Amino acid sequence: MTEHSESFLRRLRHQAREFAETARSTSLELDRAPSRAAELILGGPLPWRQLAGLPADHADDPLRVDGRPAYLDRCAEQVVVFEELARGDAAAVLALPGPSMSGHVVAELADPEQRDRYYRRLADHPTWTFFGMTEPSHGSDPSSMTTVLRAGDDGAFRLDGTKRFVGNGARAGLGVVFARRNAGPLGVTAVLLDTDRRGFSASALPTSGLRGLELSELRLCDVPVTRRDILGHGRSATRQGMWAATRTFNRFRPVVSCLALGVAQAAYDYVREHRRRLRADEDWAMARFAQRLTGVRALVASAARSADRDPADGTLASAAKLRATRLAEDLTTTAVGLFGPGARWDHPLLDKWVRDARAFEFMEGTGNIQRQVLAQGYLHGRLTDERAA
Ligand SMILES: Cc1cc2nc3c(=O)[nH]c(=O)nc-3n(C[C@H](O)[C@H](O)[C@H](O)COP(=O)(O)OP(=O)(O)OC[C@H]3O[C@@H](n4cnc5c(N)ncnc54)[C@H](O)[C@@H]3O)c2cc1C
Repeated sequence: MTEHSESFLRRLRHQAREFAETARSTSLELDRAPSRAAELILGGPLPWRQLAGLPADHADDPLRVDGRPAYLDRCAEQVVVFEELARGDAAAVLALPGPSMSGHVVAELADPEQRDRYYRRLADHPTWTFFGMTEPSHGSDPSSMTTVLRAGDDGAFRLDGTKRFVGNGARAGLGVVFARRNAGPLGVTAVLLDTDRRGFSASALPTSGLRGLELSELRLCDVPVTRRDILGHGRSATRQGMWAATRTFNRFRPVVSCLALGVAQAAYDYVREHRRRLRADEDWAMARFAQRLTGVRALVASAARSADRDPADGTLASAAKLRATRLAEDLTTTAVGLFGPGARWDHPLLDKWVRDARAFEFMEGTGNIQRQVLAQGYLHGRLTDERAA
């Protein structure tokens, strides 16, 4: 992974802008029929293989900026490319095949054989992956997790439990499931699981926002697991499942933030294009939004740089998610208001963006959880002037 200059990232953003229109062209259809993702994304002109974020040793044809590769395996690259794509359709970004969140866990915990098994499959075929943490009765609180990984007499293991609200679950070929082996947060283990394993089943849930992501329920019923599936096996308890999950959240929250920002920008552009004559107060409100868009974009970029530098520190990632989600909700609801009664009916894209913006609030932890992380970071002196700048 290489660190890129501001001008490289600017040119990468410029290049990504052309994908937004492609993503927009299938946006309403993907929203109406998420099960058509394979056909709409793989069959369309979006360069999904280049956008997947495969690491250098598995990406034979990465995006290039002036001849230099951009593998999109760094947060700083992801937030510029995915914001632009999200101006077209944030759900399409999340519905891309590839490593997504589970890739971070693999990067942290997998041994060379597990890494090869994971990336070889993703590079060979378009494969969706999942990150299975949240449960029906306990949400994403790891201390109450009831999915268990039990050791049998034969040296093998069995996995039992239910995960809910898992992105791309029903269409995934493999993914990471978090399960409890012992009490407490340190007793949580990450398991690399192929979805054709006996005892695994998944189904899509009816949802309202970011429907293209096809949130799913995963059912694990006495699923056989071997040592070779257990990520971080043999490491100390402090370097296992929850450690990797926390670092994954810290890396993925800037990405969620950039998607919310992309939706907000799309709603802003839509108003400017379709309501050319605004009253003075409306125009003033839009000017304020333009300032907030610029400010949040800078914050998301800082959060991405911080996540690349130190994925153990999620302070700026939480600040960015809080601000970007709030902006997306404020801008999309204001935009709908500017088109008067019946706007959500007459302007289906605006209707979709209002629903999508709401989903960001829950994804990767609600605003209250982000406030807690931010407060902890502040109390521990992690918001230095340089980082907050
Ligand atoms: C679009 C989308 C994609 C998702 N993708 C995945 C996925 O791929 N994999 C996965 O495992 N999960 C996924 N989820 C689930 C998501 O991560 C959780 O729903 C989210 O983290 C919220 O957690 P929770 O459901 O436990 O709610 P909670 O954290 O329990 O929150 C419930 C309510 O209580 C409030 N609250 C909670 N704790 C506090 C507190 N200490 N102080 C004050 N208020 C508090 C919250 O603000 C909220 O209003 C996804 C969700 C969405 C919407």
